[in-house]
Amino acid sequence: MKIIINGKQAEAIEGQTVLQAALAGGVYIPHLCYHEKVGAAGKCRACVVEIEGMRGLQTACSVPVREGMIVNTKSESVLNAQKLVIDLMLSSGTHDCLACEQNGSCELQDAAYFLGIERASVQYGEINREFDTSSEFVYVERNKCISCGRCVAACNNVVVNQVLDFGHRGHHTEIVFDTDKKMGESSCVQCGECSQMCPVGAIVDKKGKGKARPWEVKKVRTTCPYCGVGCQLELHVKGEEIVKVKGVENAEPNKGRLCVKGRYGYDFIYSKDRLTTPLIKEKGQFREASWDEALGLIASKFKAIIQKDGPDAVAGVSCARSINEDSYSMQKLFRSVFKTNNIDHCART
Ligand code: SF4
Ligand code: SF4
Ligand code: SF4
Repeated sequence: MKIIINGKQAEAIEGQTVLQAALAGGVYIPHLCYHEKVGAAGKCRACVVEIEGMRGLQTACSVPVREGMIVNTKSESVLNAQKLVIDLMLSSGTHDCLACEQNGSCELQDAAYFLGIERASVQYGEINREFDTSSEFVYVERNKCISCGRCVAACNNVVVNQVLDFGHRGHHTEIVFDTDKKMGESSCVQCGECSQMCPVGAIVDKKGKGKARPWEVKKVRTTCPYCGVGCQLELHVKGEEIVKVKGVENAEPNKGRLCVKGRYGYDFIYSKDRLTTPLIKEKGQFREASWDEALGLIASKFKAIIQKDGPDAVAGVSCARSINEDSYSMQKLFRSVFKTNNIDHCART
């Protein structure tokens, strides 16, 4: 369908909200609680716009588009209302951007910049919430939380771990883990989806903290090496080092979601204990060997066993961290060459 945004014709699709249609058409409207993954928004009120024929300002994230709709995202009353919302958000927290992990990729910062807000105009009240550093991989700084609810929705509805909620109320509203436990003592499984969804620097990945600014990293897309699901990862690489891992939004099979291994288990690639050549054990001691020597030895042992006891005397277990094609080749080797069905895959455990 056709709609008009700020006097220009734009394309929209049935079922889209005004915010989705505007963003798809390249028109930025500040928004903080909305993320396509976490469902109905309408909480932060930052995306208010004027829609011809509708009384007052409307939240663009909750109004569906209709043919011929006329939307204004730039009028004085719209911008004033958006400014008030963003100003109050900045006022109600400790937003010291200089040292914030999210500086440069913060959606509150983007909105403030877009609206020309240099600093909060009032101090809402004393806010000095304790940092929660109790968990292994996630760092929680509630002073920067804008109560958008994305993490709560993500934990409950996207990854369905049901750990996060809002607790206390009014001025004291804050996110809580289980029955207001420390994150590290709660039933949190450290999947990091809340960190991926947080639009500001209130929930961040601990391992990447202080290691790189968003503009210093190269983003490399790859497939998680841990199991057969094949989750899509975006590695944030500074120099030669991975400093952070994010799930790729809008990509199958994980749509941005990851488990604790995929998101935080990448240190092993820098381990000094990592094997870099085959090892052959002789008289109880390992010695380094070439691939040709190691494969030759394995082949001769397999041949000897099969000759003596038949093909069912050997079995293969392929590694879940190898690629699909390697596992396929492995079962071909066992079934077609060795003539045994004794082949399995460790992910089955
Ligand atoms: S959360 Fe955003 S606005 Fe707040 S300090 Fe961090 S970068 Fe600045
Ligand atoms: S890390 Fe995962 S399980 Fe833990 S609170 Fe965040 S979303 Fe919930
Ligand atoms: S921690 Fe982040 S995602 Fe959660 S409510 Fe606060 S600002 Fe929103």
